Amino acid sequence: MTQQITVLGATGSIGKSTLDVISRHPDLYRVFALTAHSQVDALCDMCLEHKPQYAVMVQADKAQELSLKLKSLNSKTEVLSGVDALCQVASNPEVDQVMAAIVGGAGLLPTLAAAKAGKRVLLANKEALVMSGHLFMQTIADNGATLLPIDSEHNAIFQSLPSHYGQEGFTQSGVRQILLTASGGPFRGFTSEQLANVTPAQAVKHPNWSMGQKISVDSASLMNKGLELIEACWLFDVTPKQIQVVVHPESIIHSMVQYVDGSVISQMGNPDMRTPIAYGLAWPQRIESGVDSLDFFTQSQLNFEAPNHDVFPALKLSAQAFEQGGIAPAILNAANEIAVDAFLREQIDFNSISVLIDQALNHFSMEKADSLDAILNADKQARLFTENKVAAFK
Ligand code: NAD
Ligand code: MG
Repeated sequence: MTQQITVLGATGSIGKSTLDVISRHPDLYRVFALTAHSQVDALCDMCLEHKPQYAVMVQADKAQELSLKLKSLNSKTEVLSGVDALCQVASNPEVDQVMAAIVGGAGLLPTLAAAKAGKRVLLANKEALVMSGHLFMQTIADNGATLLPIDSEHNAIFQSLPSHYGQEGFTQSGVRQILLTASGGPFRGFTSEQLANVTPAQAVKHPNWSMGQKISVDSASLMNKGLELIEACWLFDVTPKQIQVVVHPESIIHSMVQYVDGSVISQMGNPDMRTPIAYGLAWPQRIESGVDSLDFFTQSQLNFEAPNHDVFPALKLSAQAFEQGGIAPAILNAANEIAVDAFLREQIDFNSISVLIDQALNHFSMEKADSLDAILNADKQARLFTENKVAAFK
């Protein structure tokens, strides 16, 4: 049976890779809806190629522009606009799977809508889970949705855990530790003094992966690993103490699970997101992804080192936010989004990203995150707080 797929964030790096995999299997998958923030031309081309039933543009004027353009090209795709429309195409009864690949907190509502509608949710949008942790996992469980991690590390951990892990949990499954790998990003080995002078262009130039701007800066500051630490805690029902971050600059091992008998099981492959995407789409089967086989003779060395917590405070801040609980991870995420944006606009220096996050975590009292309203309010307040701090930099 052909599966109908909605791709949230279709024009992004993950969105494009998803469409690449889907187009290799026209017998298995059909595109139901594609969404984007404001890239009219890119979404128009995608609609002509994949012929979805719906296209959603967040901005109304851009939606109008896309609609006129598609009509003039005889496309039958219907164009909708706004956040409600994102939620509609994520929860439509005709949809089987939703690729959640919007960047940042903007992905929370449509991803939750997919979970609420009991879909198979392919989660790339880690920020949504970080912000709403317990609520998100509860929504998945309450509505019989299936959650498959697309983030390469979590996909690797999922593949390396026993299939009965979900019923048994960490201890019963004989797991000793989860080893979350990190490339170390473009500034691995830098001192704080060196980091003070790095530019946005240097930060977005990741050594192994080609990704969107925000996640590239997060990789450079190790905040991506911090968000992933929290993501792993929720996905695999563990605490930060049960996870060891291992810097592995080649990004060939995508993460590992260490068992009590001394075994370590890892998932490896070339650094290409089409592998975890194909795994998510086809699970429990496997399909061609277009990714080349790993050549061990060319890639003859794999290196490992410990992360430098003093130069890159993001991991500690993230572990602290998870331990604090409640709205703390939502505060951490919101402050980071504003700080990264300010860094990309050259309003603040690189080291100030973690300073601003620390300030936000210290400013707010960490109330419970027991409702969507509480989470959205925390997100809003932390954005305002951090924007004001950024304004003071000028
Ligand atoms: P990207 O910047 O390349 O693409 C983001 C997509 O989201 C675009 O389609 C854009 O139109 C849409 N978008 C942006 N702002 C929006 C808004 N306010 N409302 C609705 N849509 C909006 O990002 P990416 O690199 O593809 O990353 C997407 C998500 O996947 C992020 O959460 C990232 O952490 C995660 N992820 C990415 C990679 C990767 O290799 N790129 C790997 C693992 C996880
Ligand atoms: Mg990752």
